Amino acid sequence: MSKNYLLGLLTAVCFSAPVFASEHEYGDVATAQTIIKEIQAIDRAYIAAHKASFFKELSKGQHPRATVVTCSDSRVHTNLLDKTPEGDLFMIRNIGNQLATSKGSVQYGVNHLASSLLIFIGHSSCGAIKAASSDYADIEPDIKKELDTINITKGAVSIDGVKTNVNNQVAAALKEFDEKVKAGQLLVVGAVYDFADDMKQGAGKLNIINVNGDTDGGKIKTALSAKAAAAGHGEHGHH
Ligand SMILES: [Zn+2]
Repeated sequence: MSKNYLLGLLTAVCFSAPVFASEHEYGDVATAQTIIKEIQAIDRAYIAAHKASFFKELSKGQHPRATVVTCSDSRVHTNLLDKTPEGDLFMIRNIGNQLATSKGSVQYGVNHLASSLLIFIGHSSCGAIKAASSDYADIEPDIKKELDTINITKGAVSIDGVKTNVNNQVAAALKEFDEKVKAGQLLVVGAVYDFADDMKQGAGKLNIINVNGDTDGGKIKTALSAKAAAAGHGEHGHH
């Protein structure tokens, strides 16, 4: 790791949003033990809050409504998408919310679990995007491999890189699941969870920026309308 790179990281840690690596000081096992205790307490409360029938239902199988590909970033939360995500969201998380680095998982959600929505969710202040748009040659080889598949311009402004990457993921997914999209069985959506309000739509808004390859606001609206859905699903629409 070059001295400049380290200096850059340090500067970023001290003066701006967290970056991809070295965001905090290293933790310790005592902290981890505390966290496990908290997790166990949360689990006990969760069990107490749910009836036995809830778990029985889950044990029967899953029919998730959506396959979700989002960044591993801890700031992207699932209750953004579903108040009760259990059984509803087939979640795939990796750095940079990519198809390429989790293709098997995405294929499983779309082809085997038959979710009708495949959504890629990028987010503001994404460390993976920041890293991919800069020189990351010195990073661990396995991380490098997962950054190499993010195709954005070097030096791109953070939110522009985030949007480009989401659009790239949708384009790749449209190629991968071409038949399902054409048959009206699958909608591929690209979105940006913008907690930094970089897109000036309000902090925390989930901005839909791409539907089946359309990035124009009007076309997105049309593609998401009930009419378009009816055209896609024929007489099998839900009530
Ligand atoms: Zn990220």
